[in-house]
Amino acid sequence: MISDTVFPVEPWVLRETRFDPELLSQSESMFALSNGHIGMRGNLDEGEPHALPGTYLNGFYERRPLPYAEAGYGYPEDGQTLINITNGKLLRLLVDDEPFDLRYGEVCSHERVLDLRAGTLTRDVEWIAPTHRRVHVQSTRLVSLTQRAVAAIRYSVEALDDKPIRVVVQSELVTNEQLPDVEGDPRVASVVANPLKAEHQVQHNLAAVLVHSTKESGLRMAAAMDHHVSGVEDYATHTEIYPDLARMSVTLVLQPGERLEVVKYLSYGWSSLRSVPAVRDQVAAALTGAKHAGWEGLVREQREFLDDFWDGADVEVDGDAELQQAVRFAIFHVMQAGARAERRPIPAKGLTGNGYDGHCFWDTETFVLPVLTYTIPHAAADELRWRCYTMDQATMRARQLGLRGAAFPWRTIHGEECSAYWPASTASFHINADIADAAVRYVNATGDGDFERTAALQLLVETARLWRSLGHHDTNGRFRIDGVTGPDEYSAVADNNVFTNLMARRNMLAAAEVCARHPEEAHELGVDVEETAGWRDAANDMVIPYDEHLHVHPQDEAFTSHAVWDFEATPQDHYPLLLHYPYFDLYRKQVVKQADLVLAMQLCGDAFTPEQKRRNFDYYEPLTVRDSSLSASTQAVMAAEVGHLDLALDYAAEAALVDLRDLKHNTRDGLHMASLAGAWSALVCGFGGMRDHSGRLTFAPRLPGGLSRLRFNLLYRGARLRVEVHPDEATYSLTDGGTTLHLMHHGEAFELTEHESLTLPIPPTPPQPRPRQPAGREPLRRHPTA
Ligand code: BGC
Repeated sequence: MISDTVFPVEPWVLRETRFDPELLSQSESMFALSNGHIGMRGNLDEGEPHALPGTYLNGFYERRPLPYAEAGYGYPEDGQTLINITNGKLLRLLVDDEPFDLRYGEVCSHERVLDLRAGTLTRDVEWIAPTHRRVHVQSTRLVSLTQRAVAAIRYSVEALDDKPIRVVVQSELVTNEQLPDVEGDPRVASVVANPLKAEHQVQHNLAAVLVHSTKESGLRMAAAMDHHVSGVEDYATHTEIYPDLARMSVTLVLQPGERLEVVKYLSYGWSSLRSVPAVRDQVAAALTGAKHAGWEGLVREQREFLDDFWDGADVEVDGDAELQQAVRFAIFHVMQAGARAERRPIPAKGLTGNGYDGHCFWDTETFVLPVLTYTIPHAAADELRWRCYTMDQATMRARQLGLRGAAFPWRTIHGEECSAYWPASTASFHINADIADAAVRYVNATGDGDFERTAALQLLVETARLWRSLGHHDTNGRFRIDGVTGPDEYSAVADNNVFTNLMARRNMLAAAEVCARHPEEAHELGVDVEETAGWRDAANDMVIPYDEHLHVHPQDEAFTSHAVWDFEATPQDHYPLLLHYPYFDLYRKQVVKQADLVLAMQLCGDAFTPEQKRRNFDYYEPLTVRDSSLSASTQAVMAAEVGHLDLALDYAAEAALVDLRDLKHNTRDGLHMASLAGAWSALVCGFGGMRDHSGRLTFAPRLPGGLSRLRFNLLYRGARLRVEVHPDEATYSLTDGGTTLHLMHHGEAFELTEHESLTLPIPPTPPQPRPRQPAGREPLRRHPTA
């Protein structure tokens, strides 16, 4: 059980106060370091004990066949799996004759600290070997945010005895590590054993490079290490190299109080095109850059990068210390996942584990990109450019499905659809509108005209084409989108899912507008006025079902006529339902895995009246079981908007604590990026009431009882906007950017110029009865600990 005695509540660090082997699988994910290009799980330096060793390179995957009991047209033939690459984290230690291994001897103290401002993972251990020798081991690990191919570790050993101790530090690169078998839960990634074949090894002085390639996907990678030894005089080194192992050993007799220090520089690179010498030299060059910066330089650069990041991204919460820590932890990991992904996907787990095979889903555009758009905008643009790179695969997929435009994959690494279960993948066409929406949001938030003319235009045109061919006008002239799956995966292949139709409508209208702004570029994509008129017609005629009897929006046309799931008869241990009940039964009942109509109200809030939002929210609460971590943050945002502020706080905390408290019992597979990003949304869009419909930033801040202050920052059109919310008033200030912003506060327009601050009153919130949730699925009631 993860508790705040092992991981105490602190504002800027995640500290693990003692070694608990039972928590290794979670702590490896929580202590993962990444820059979006390289990912390293928080494995112990000496490699064992471990739950799952993991080192990843974004986009570096192996292909594997997708087996089907019964074949069907258009089923993807291959899957893609993120693989565990060469492990450079390893620093084994021999203390006299005894390997430093926490499972033996006595652990006197063991502390690990993830420092969210320094971007480092530090460790401090005192250990007595079974041979009674006592040592003090310290390490600091970083994955550089400034040099994206680089990671580094500073490792030291001190003899605490009054007698000399012989120590050997073995620093290694190990390829094809033995991985534990993972079975059972379909969410757990398939493990690819021995995925890499050796191509080249080279060693020189204390440095080594290993080059490997995948067997099926045709990718090549190189890993390199070099070392700097200090603190002692009389030591010897020894190096060895084999196809899957490079080792540099340092040995000496440590005198009492003496401290051996080894700095290990690491670099990684991969390519599908470059030759063996080219990738070898690529990592050698990266190592040269790292050594030029030196350990202190890398640490300083990391701190500077993060100082700048936090200046524009921090969210301060007064009144709930645990939530404060959780939201910073969440923002930090979202930053790590995206900061240097640079035209590669951002997977659902970032690079913190192999859950979901390392695939990227709609999670990225719908949950992660809103955070990046307002905190590291270029990272959002880069992710969308990656979607553009995969355009060929998406247009081919559309052709295969008999559609026009582009059909982006539900889950992928390289751009091809990798899901074997089409009702919850291929049919989830909304991902196309989610991508389009993220592109529009980015352009509105930054005013990046180049991006609009190139990437956004292409994404919008091809997705608009998809919608136009996927839907049809019925005999009444209404545009219908039948047989699709919305965000809620407990309904599938349904007609006129409100979320999908609203997002498709917005997609087609935005495509027509962008084409009108850039007629030449649109013409190059073959767009003419007939085509854009067709998109506008379809958008304007879009069916948005409404249940006149219940006065709510049905999630899809038939939803409110289905039987309601028997929640009372569902035992608590039968959640998540997908692991205990057949899909056919879930599909024909009113039971909601994750916010769907409620998400439509968040993202397309301008399509609903305040009264409709209240009624809809109250209707869907008793049906929503939150079997997906993508739900709580949306429920937080909408609960806040319709006035259930305490409930919103409960959901915000659930989204933020999903991994810190392992609420879904699968933190071991990697962190839930969408939920962590959702923690930011729960605060900024929930209690800050921020919305960005139609390209205009609006706010309707309101704090729940437990919080006394909320402050957040947004990067918007080159300016830094700061919003500070107190129970009765909110202050908006613009710190730089040289621009005037036209904003709204609770429906009232106002302007803000650089270096200006404006304080506005917050209208009171009328009390609302708290809606029910399905029996046993209520969020934990929050009792903030200030
Ligand atoms: C959710 C999807 C999500 C996927 C990856 C599933 O459980 O239902 O919406 O994209 O997990 O996070």
